[in-house]
Formats: sequence, C-alpha cells, structure tokens
Amino acid sequence: MGLIVQKFGGTSVADTRRIHSAARRAVAAKTRGNEVVVVVSAMGNTTDDLIALARQVCENPPKRELDQLLATGEQVTIALMAMALHDQGHEAISFTGGQIGLVTDNAFSKARIQSINKQRIFEQLEAGRIVIVAGFQGVTPEGDYTTLGRGGSNATLVALGAVLQADVCENYTDVDGIFTADPRIVKNARKIDRISYDEMLELSGLGASVLQTRAVEFAKKYNVPLHVRNSQNDSEGTWIVAETPNMEHIVVSGAALKKDLTRVTIKNVPDRPGIAAKIFGDIAAANIVVDDIIQNVMDDNTANISFTVEHGDLHDIKPVVERIARELGPKAHATYQGDLAKVSAVGVGMRVHTGVAQHMFKTLADARINIQNITTSEIKISCIINKDDGPRALQLVHDAFELDKSK
Ligand code: ASP
Ligand code: MG
Repeated sequence: MGLIVQKFGGTSVADTRRIHSAARRAVAAKTRGNEVVVVVSAMGNTTDDLIALARQVCENPPKRELDQLLATGEQVTIALMAMALHDQGHEAISFTGGQIGLVTDNAFSKARIQSINKQRIFEQLEAGRIVIVAGFQGVTPEGDYTTLGRGGSNATLVALGAVLQADVCENYTDVDGIFTADPRIVKNARKIDRISYDEMLELSGLGASVLQTRAVEFAKKYNVPLHVRNSQNDSEGTWIVAETPNMEHIVVSGAALKKDLTRVTIKNVPDRPGIAAKIFGDIAAANIVVDDIIQNVMDDNTANISFTVEHGDLHDIKPVVERIARELGPKAHATYQGDLAKVSAVGVGMRVHTGVAQHMFKTLADARINIQNITTSEIKISCIINKDDGPRALQLVHDAFELDKSK
C-alpha cells in the first residue's frame, strides 16, 4: 500500500478504448490499496496536430499563444479519463495544471515548475477518489497557461511524485522500457532492467527520447523511483533508481545517438576573463540549450569558441549568436556547420574500468568513420561525426560493447 503516480503518454491514451484500458490500470492500483494519481498526455498526436494547425495560421506563432493552444490537448484527456473511471464505477476528479496550483516561470513553451499546491490533491485522495492531472502544463503566477517542453508530461509526473512523496512513479508508454540503444535503429537492442539516474540523465540528454532530461533530474534530486513500462502488457519495464555498487560491473549500459546537430563557432573572440561567461549567459537567457562547448586559444590572443545545438534550435539561436559576435568586435564572426550527429556510450562502470574510450575510438576508426570532436564526462564518451554515419556508428558502438548480451 502506498501512493502511486501513474503517467500515460499520448499513445497510451490515443483513443477511447485505450483511455478505458489506462483507467483500468489506475483502478487495479487503487484496488490493491494504493492512493492513485494519474497524469495524462494529449491523445495520440494531438500536440503535433495543434502545432501544425498553429503554423497554418502563423509561421512563427507567439509562444504564449502556442501554449494557450497546446494546453487544450491535455485538458481533453483528463476529462475523458475521469469519465472512463466513473463509467467503471470509481470516483475520480480531473484537474488542469492551474487547478492544482502548478505554477511555473513564464518561459512559454519550456517553462519550469516552481511550485505545486498538494493540498487539493490530498483532499481528493483522502475522499477516496482517483485524481487525474493534466500533464505538460502549468500556469504563470499571473495565471497564463504555460507548457513544459515536448514530452513535458514526464516532468509533471516526477514533480508530483516528489511533492506527494510517492512510493513509485510509473511511466506508461508504448515501449517495454529503456533500451540499450534506440531499437528503431539498432535491431538487437535490449531492454535494460535497472539503470541509475545518472546514466539515464546522460542517455536522455544524448537523444534517448523516452524520458525528458529534466524529468530525470527531478527524479534524482528527490530520489523518486521511476518505472518505465509498456501500457499494452504487464511485464516489468525499466527501473530508474539511485546508483548501487552492483551497477559498476557493467562497463557500458547504453549507447545513444543525437541525429541532427549544428556546430556553431564564434571565431576571433578576445581572450580575456568574462567573455565565455557573457556568451553563454546571453545564450542561456534566450533559453537555448547548448552542448559540447570547446574553446581553442590561438597564438594571437584570440579564441575560437564552438558548441553544438539541435538543428531545430538554430533558428532561435542565430540572432543571439550574431548579436554576440557583433558586440565582441569587428573581427569576431560566427560560422555554422550542420549535418552532424553525436554517438555516445554511457555507463557508471567507466568510473572504475579503463580502456573504454580507446575501444570506442578504434571501433569507429576501423569502420572509417571520422571523429570530429570528442567530449567526455565521468560516465560518458561522445563523438561528433557526420550525420550520415550516425545510425551505422550507433550499431557499431552497441556491438563493440556487446550491449545485446545481458550481464
Ligand atoms: N503532449 C505533449 C507532447 O506531445 C506532452 C507529452 O506528451 O508529454 O509533447
Ligand atoms: Mg505527446
């Protein structure tokens, strides 16, 4: 007996039949004696469809208005889910983000959760109801709708898990769990049974798309166990939990591919204290996530600073970068190289095992894949390569570390 927060993603509530089957899972958990909170996404591809609709009206819709529109997707699902539960003979009540006081900052389209008023949820749970909450949305302190970034229902799930001190957050999706690599690209990818928050963070930051990075960060911070599982079957999925010493036996746990990156280079940057802080401060202020930052200092006291961005963010970052380059003086200018990919190997075992990087580099070299940049962390090695080599590189790295074999 405990408190369970369940989340059903878009495919798991794609039609009314699936909404009923999701509702049955909530009922099953309740019948086992748990208190149950259910977070839902918009049905199927609703969010994509709404974005397409917006674009028919306006090429680059104002973000506030886009959020106003997108928040409707989840609102449909919460009401239908509550109705499905009533139909199955159970008491349920649905809430929008605003109705449970889920307050965010006002960074429309990628807002961050600031607080949740758990009072209202606890009152309803105590009254014996199943509580349904709209994922992906919140409100600004002024009451305007915001959304939490694509896949943001996961952020709602974990945030609720944290504030309600849930015993487990169950993430129901259309796959069996987290895989050693994207199974659409790597056919022999294997489901992982347990993985640490840190590994999952690296993997999701590197393009494994099941869980948003921010959701995993939150889960780690509040030590909320996450169970990612398939809504179409009853088998155990992947548990994402705090690290255990056992996990170090496995050198590499997973491989990931970021498919479409652009490298931005700002050249002839004056080499003096505070410049990097200014550049990345300005970029962060524009809410753009950059990665793989590399600075090279030249002989003439200037530096080249480069970093990668998702190709889709280029449109937003270009004006910021161009402005920074202008402010840095007449010689500074920016260049852009697109069509890049990043292949990575991740594992907490790298902390104690050696030779992992060398094995990865040799694997790529033997396949004549050119490595353009290398970045590492304690538990990750990433190589920037040509986009066209991406899928092949992912398969090669997966095979090189025998990720298809359970250890
Ligand atoms: N409906 C939103 C999206 O498609 C949020 C989510 O599914 O988590 O991104
Ligand atoms: Mg969705």
